[in-house]
Amino acid sequence: MESLIPVISKLQDVFSTIGYRQQEVELPQIVVVGIQSAGKSSVLESLVGRDFLPRGRDMVTRSPLLLHLIHTPISDPRRRGNSKITNSDWAVFMHKETEIFTDFNLVRQEIDDETNRIAGSNKNISHEPIILKIFSAKVVNLSLVDLPGLVSVPVGDQPPDIAVQIHSMILKFISNPNSLILAITPANQDFATSEPLKLAKEVDVDGNRTLVVLTKLDLMDKGTDATDVLNGRTIPVKLGIIGVVNRSQEDINNKKPMDECLKEEAAFLLKKYPTLASKNGIPYLAKTLNRLLMHHIRACLPELKVRISTMISQCQMLLSSYGEPIVDKSRMVLQVINHFANAYNATIDGTWKNIETSELT
Ligand code: GDP
Ligand code: MG
Repeated sequence: MESLIPVISKLQDVFSTIGYRQQEVELPQIVVVGIQSAGKSSVLESLVGRDFLPRGRDMVTRSPLLLHLIHTPISDPRRRGNSKITNSDWAVFMHKETEIFTDFNLVRQEIDDETNRIAGSNKNISHEPIILKIFSAKVVNLSLVDLPGLVSVPVGDQPPDIAVQIHSMILKFISNPNSLILAITPANQDFATSEPLKLAKEVDVDGNRTLVVLTKLDLMDKGTDATDVLNGRTIPVKLGIIGVVNRSQEDINNKKPMDECLKEEAAFLLKKYPTLASKNGIPYLAKTLNRLLMHHIRACLPELKVRISTMISQCQMLLSSYGEPIVDKSRMVLQVINHFANAYNATIDGTWKNIETSELT
């Protein structure tokens, strides 16, 4: 079962090489949706256990980031023969396949540079995805898509319709019936009016593929708590509502290690929500996502197989319409000349006949 997720990630690579179009083959993936500053990047970084995403007050995620987390134990054979990755995590971008990144500050820089290259530097957005694989002993296998956050007004020199553009980009990704929707909502905002949840309801009416992550549990007003929301009493969510505490801006500024933040999250949950602690928090979220994605892929596979087989036979038909493969290289030039001569004669004949016919009529 575990091997299903890397298979889908390979398919994604193949489709991106041949010009990735969402509508053509709807691959199973987890799409992260939320308003700006809801904690989307923080959740992804917590799942990876590393700082690697660009940060800033304005919109930093401006093109889809397809993120594949690949569990690679220290004993994994891929590590052998490469001293750079023997004991460390590493990352590879699809657009720079031969370069291995072990410094995650450089990963962040590369995402920034590539975003500027494909979406321009004026805060506009692009539909072209950046594909990043992270190999680590600490991650569970997951394929996630980070998208620009929902906004209500343009900033700086953003186009006036930026909010509509982002809305439709998100809608396109979550309309894929094979996408799981990860709706990120901060606990310190009104859950009943959660924007990503509203959007998810539009395309997933029965709620069979929507999961909620409630961030910023630590930032709730004094005297309030999230028990009702987490128990699904405010709005029920079939796949569940998982509360988390990500790193605060102060933690980030102080470069507090991820491991320490995870320990603090666990302690916070035990103290504030003792009965719910075991079903919340980043480690529980990672395990749940992995389980959901695997079950989801298994459910999507039969249809996916049919779709891909159809595409293969279409390609084969196209290929055979080009004629017999040229086996004997010494006769290749002769064969090409013959093909050309036949095609040329047929055209001349055709044109001649057309002229004759048009002159007669
Ligand atoms: P994004 O725009 O949705 O990607 O949001 P970010 O992940 O960049 O988070 C925006 C800000 O909220 C950052 O300063 C984070 O440190 C902070 N933040 C996110 N999640 C939490 C959380 O659970 N607790 C606290 N205290 N801060 C958080
Ligand atoms: Mg972000």
